[in-house]
Amino acid sequence: MILKIVQLGAEVLRQPARPLTPEEIQSLEIQRLIADMCDTMRDAPGVGLAAPQVGLSLQLAVIEDPEHYHQELNPQQLAERGHRPVPLHVLINPRIVARSEPLPCFFEGCLSFSGFSALVPRSQKVTVEFLDEYAHEHRIEAEGWYARILQHEIDHLHGNLYIDHMQARTLMTLENYKRYWKDIPVSEIQRRLGK
Ligand code: ZN
Repeated sequence: MILKIVQLGAEVLRQPARPLTPEEIQSLEIQRLIADMCDTMRDAPGVGLAAPQVGLSLQLAVIEDPEHYHQELNPQQLAERGHRPVPLHVLINPRIVARSEPLPCFFEGCLSFSGFSALVPRSQKVTVEFLDEYAHEHRIEAEGWYARILQHEIDHLHGNLYIDHMQARTLMTLENYKRYWKDIPVSEIQRRLGK
């Protein structure tokens, strides 16, 4: 089932979400929610979706970054962004336990602020501990675009959005991003728009 994605201004996007217990994770209700969130993320389409974005203040997110989402990028852009396909997985009660300095800046968007994009600095590497949909514990070390997605989704679970970290002068409509900026190096965009 496709769920409604709430937009900026919905209070739930600004509230810290609560963790789930192992019993709750295995409940029919949460298993159904996970399936619906996967359907909703794919339908949007997006590479991640957090429960607050569908109006539920729970520490749950789904992530999937399939290879065919990267077809518009040339090999150099893929390498710069550290793009690698990420299979579908579920993130419950995640914690970032280690991160590198927030350095690389790339354009980021959000399904809850649809139609816009801005440059956002993010850590190149993060270590995350979380539970999966079976309440099994995991620890992953991620880098590049996957690390960026993890930071974006985990932000949602703490009531934070990319606009809290963005380089505000680079905020633009997706339409204008595609029209004017998509093939221009980040450093030049920052120089022309100002930081
Ligand atoms: Zn988002």
